[in-house]
Amino acid sequence: MIGDIIKDAVFPLRCAMCDEVLPAGRRGICKACSGKVSYLMEPRCLKCGKEIEDEDEDLCMDCSGNTRSYDAGYPLFNYIPPVSDSLVRFKYHGREEYAEYYGKSIAERYKDNFFRLGIEAIVPVPLHKERLKKRGYDQAKLIASVISRETKIKMLDGFLERVKNTAPQKELNDVEREKNLMEAFCIGKSYKGIIPEAVLLVDDIYTTGATIEGCTRVLKAAGVKRVFYTSVAIGKV
Ligand SMILES: [Zn+2]
Ligand SMILES: [Zn+2]
Repeated sequence: MIGDIIKDAVFPLRCAMCDEVLPAGRRGICKACSGKVSYLMEPRCLKCGKEIEDEDEDLCMDCSGNTRSYDAGYPLFNYIPPVSDSLVRFKYHGREEYAEYYGKSIAERYKDNFFRLGIEAIVPVPLHKERLKKRGYDQAKLIASVISRETKIKMLDGFLERVKNTAPQKELNDVEREKNLMEAFCIGKSYKGIIPEAVLLVDDIYTTGATIEGCTRVLKAAGVKRVFYTSVAIGKV
């Protein structure tokens, strides 16, 4: 399209992985990066979806050592370069437009699973208001709304709320993280809709699973029967 060509020249699209300008007409990521991104391979943890080394094991270390109340996870990539660099730019350096590539890729890979699981609603892991003010955008919500558009499964914005502005998770050990996050979420006070039976939580990165666990407990206590999650990447941050 002529319009697209002009738009690409004025606002060149960048590769959502290496951030180089994409050739006119190309969307998403560049050719070089598409050969480098690391999709999760089998064998995988039956709970969180992380790659595991021993195919005789069902669960990874994190999932076998901690209570995980959600039903199953659908992460997309391993958290290694170029994905990890991309997510850092997405979260901390204003590259909010990467959400388009992330959301589309998740939908493309897992759409059929989401339909089979009977997911009725997509719920982004909420960001605290203070954090949102600082960052200017809600990264999980951006990804969730693209997944919602691509799958036509409605997004319930405001269903979950973050009540506590948790300390940066990096500085905490696993036990502290868990405790910190258990108290961080609640059902949104203004939410008046019905409680869906099956929900897909969306986050950018899954590390130990404490965030998803915190959200899951609140959702299940509110009557949601099955909780799944998806994330752009999984691994140690
Ligand atoms: Zn690239
Ligand atoms: Zn696991």
